[in-house]
Amino acid sequence: MCPEKNKSESITKAHGAISISFIITSLTIGFIAILNESVLLSIIYLVIVISAFIVMSIIYCSKCLCRNNCNHIFIGHLSKIFSKQNSKNYTKSDVIFGAVLPMLIVYIIPQFWLINNSLYFLLFWILTIIGILDVLIFVCRNCRNTKCSMCKSHK
Ligand code: SF4
Ligand code: SF4
Repeated sequence: MCPEKNKSESITKAHGAISISFIITSLTIGFIAILNESVLLSIIYLVIVISAFIVMSIIYCSKCLCRNNCNHIFIGHLSKIFSKQNSKNYTKSDVIFGAVLPMLIVYIIPQFWLINNSLYFLLFWILTIIGILDVLIFVCRNCRNTKCSMCKSHK
């Protein structure tokens, strides 16, 4: 069962919304960098990004105790659309195929285009780093998905 809400719930949610906005904005910059070179490749990238989020929501979020109250806002809703709740614990494969690999793919692909545009490259990585730090410092600290190894609450 999802642990009880704590006092910092609304602050955690705010950081969850801010961090996912930074992450999506950085991916949008990657998309625009590709779009400047090729419409077809940018559409392929968009499909890959959407697929990556769906794969994460199916593999990782289906096992989340709190996907009805997701700290990353929309990902929990995606999970409910595409998968049934799974009560088992995470395996190494879940972490690799449901989190690390999809994220690596969506971040590595645009580098080939960003490398030619220093402004886009800088913006992409500044927003990404802020988004990730916001998750690690503020969201994971109070996240109620205690099965996630990043979760620092209830420990
Ligand atoms: S809190 Fe994390 S694991 Fe749980 S539904 Fe949201 S994104 Fe998925
Ligand atoms: S502990 Fe962190 S990484 Fe894991 S589901 Fe919660 S917010 Fe996401």
